[in-house]
Amino acid sequence: MAETIKSILRDIRTGTIAKEGLTCLISIKTREEFQPVFEESARVCRRHFGDRVYVRGIIEFSNYCRKGCFYCGINKANKKVGRYRLSLEEILAAAAFMKKQGVLTVVLQSGEDPGSDGLVVEAVKKIKNDLDMAVTLSVGERDGKIYREFLKAGADRYLLRIETTDPGLFKKLHPDDDLAYRTQCLYDLKELGFEVGTGIMVGLPGQALGSIAGDLLFFRKLNPAMVGIGPFLPHQDTPLRGRKNSDIFLTLKTLALIRLLLPQSNLPATTAMGTMDPTGRQQALKIGANVIMPNFTPSQYRENYKLYDDKICISEEYGRCAACTAGIAAAAGKRIVKSKGYAKNRA
Ligand code: SAM
Repeated sequence: MAETIKSILRDIRTGTIAKEGLTCLISIKTREEFQPVFEESARVCRRHFGDRVYVRGIIEFSNYCRKGCFYCGINKANKKVGRYRLSLEEILAAAAFMKKQGVLTVVLQSGEDPGSDGLVVEAVKKIKNDLDMAVTLSVGERDGKIYREFLKAGADRYLLRIETTDPGLFKKLHPDDDLAYRTQCLYDLKELGFEVGTGIMVGLPGQALGSIAGDLLFFRKLNPAMVGIGPFLPHQDTPLRGRKNSDIFLTLKTLALIRLLLPQSNLPATTAMGTMDPTGRQQALKIGANVIMPNFTPSQYRENYKLYDDKICISEEYGRCAACTAGIAAAAGKRIVKSKGYAKNRA
């Protein structure tokens, strides 16, 4: 097997890798056997980012959603969720607090809530003008007109996970979404000039390992500035309740391969990784992740932004996250840097 791994790693380096090779690596069953890949992905990350970890603070500003994605705890069919939308003042206060803590990039995330577009435009303008922070939007699908308004307001980045590129699986999980349209959104956003981020969930019910390999090839083709992946975790009030959790090893294998395919992209150690395993984010930073995304949503709203069961950082004291992320980076032998963290492979 060691020789096969070597030869597949060579194919990745030379850009000749095919789906079979990636599927072969993802299928490796033990950490011991996968270790040469982790070592290579850690090396590649160090080569491009040293020991630096960028921080993006998230404000989950609205949980209204027009979509019914079967895995998501805030999908429109979940009547148990108390719906909320932050006011402009609340968003700006959270962003200002973040900046005081040394975090220079804000991620405004929400369910797919077009009713908040005006609020987003105003918030972006204010955050750019008054606080001089980099702004990422993670608000779902819109059309070109709205993307242009977001861009004009000053938004720098747009995060839209493709979730899975497997057409059959995508259809099963998204009763009112279209894979071709979501894919087109990503290309449109890139064309408009956003730093684009995408990603998937790993370990979705019905997701074959070959399908993850297909996702990896999609990332290589799109060449996004950021790829955020996380393990699928079930939520009790969704159609996928009771399904098996993903596993952290599968998530880490996928992350390591993304680092090898996209050496310069920003790869976060995600909250879902930390939920799945208390040391999930540390492990991710050790093998190729270079970003961490602490939660700056005002405490009273967090309970209602549970995308999956047992999500971490719900009841922590507000503002604890910045100190916590420094500890996570240190445990991985890295350090937090005060930077907007613009993409190295920005088009
Ligand atoms: N509505 C926006 C969109 O569609 O891009 C952004 C918000 S959405 C709630 C953020 C991400 O949460 C999704 O892209 C999805 O990958 C992740 N997510 C939702 N439910 C999840 C679950 N049960 N387990 C793991 N991740 C989940």
